[in-house]
Amino acid sequence: MYDIIIIGAGTAGMSAAIYGLRAGKKVLMLEEKNYGGQIVNTPEIENYPGVSKVSGFEFATNLYQQAMDLGAEIVYERALKIKDDKEHKVVITAKHQYEAKAVILATGAKNRPLGVDREEQMIGAGVSYCATCDGMFFRGKDVAVVGGGNTALEDATFLSNYCNRVYVIHRRDTFRGESRLVDQLKKKENVTFVLDSNVVRLLGEEKIEGITVKNVKDHSIRDISVSGVFVAIGQEPDNKDFADMVNIDEKGYIRANEECKTNAQGIFTAGDCRTKKVRQLTTAASDGAVAALAACEFIQQ
Ligand code: NAP
Repeated sequence: MYDIIIIGAGTAGMSAAIYGLRAGKKVLMLEEKNYGGQIVNTPEIENYPGVSKVSGFEFATNLYQQAMDLGAEIVYERALKIKDDKEHKVVITAKHQYEAKAVILATGAKNRPLGVDREEQMIGAGVSYCATCDGMFFRGKDVAVVGGGNTALEDATFLSNYCNRVYVIHRRDTFRGESRLVDQLKKKENVTFVLDSNVVRLLGEEKIEGITVKNVKDHSIRDISVSGVFVAIGQEPDNKDFADMVNIDEKGYIRANEECKTNAQGIFTAGDCRTKKVRQLTTAASDGAVAALAACEFIQQ
């Protein structure tokens, strides 16, 4: 029996593991894919207090190493269900059942799709959700980045160093991301902003050859010739497997209070998967600490 099972080994989950382990608890992390979560795909982190510059991969690896050195266990299985057996919780995967006194849901969020025809079919044929992973394949080519948040702005900056031209397609004329990043991009000669516009079609049969964009104000339509489309329009949570145990809001986020407590006794939640206003690396790490300490207090009681 574990003290705490953490579902998800992103920044929130691994921070929770560190706090749980340092409080002397036996901790298991269940991770569906790879440790690290979304931050792994960020080329450079420049806003984590005390760390002026670090790559997302290095940050995640350090966090993982820190948790493992403290004695964390990690199993790469997707948690499909949580059962409440009164005395403890049972977390069920396709292969095993794991028992713990408390559970922390740190499932993060996944990339939001554009929702245009053939999007899924063209993944790997020009459609990508990760500029750091796939950017190199488009060296010297023209690409589009869709979105107006920090991810899109950082992706466009990264790609502008390798690609011939980067079109930034955003549905409004102001950006959700930091103005410092926008100013930086505006200085780049090979970056073109296509604002007030949505991507409505992917062009090309076997591989992407372009996109059709529609202006939301004057409804004009134009084709832009590109070899790659990097979709960076935010994330969506994926918590439906736990909807029978914890309250989830209309957008799919797990409802939680300041202490990261859900409505279910002994189940806590941390990071991007939970209701909150600011979803940042710092708030994910902070949630991890808060959720782990709340779980420790629950176990003690
Ligand atoms: P985000 O901040 O939610 O931005 C998503 C962007 O996509 C918005 O500009 C939004 O437009 C647009 N969008 C959403 N749905 C769309 C749709 N269906 N069609 C077209 N456009 C759509 O997402 P993010 O950029 O991935 O960032 C997520 C969080 O991580 C944020 O809190 C961000 O600050 C943080 N982050 C931080 C760093 C860093 O600190 N280094 C790096 C990356 C991300 P509207 O603006 O019109 O809604």
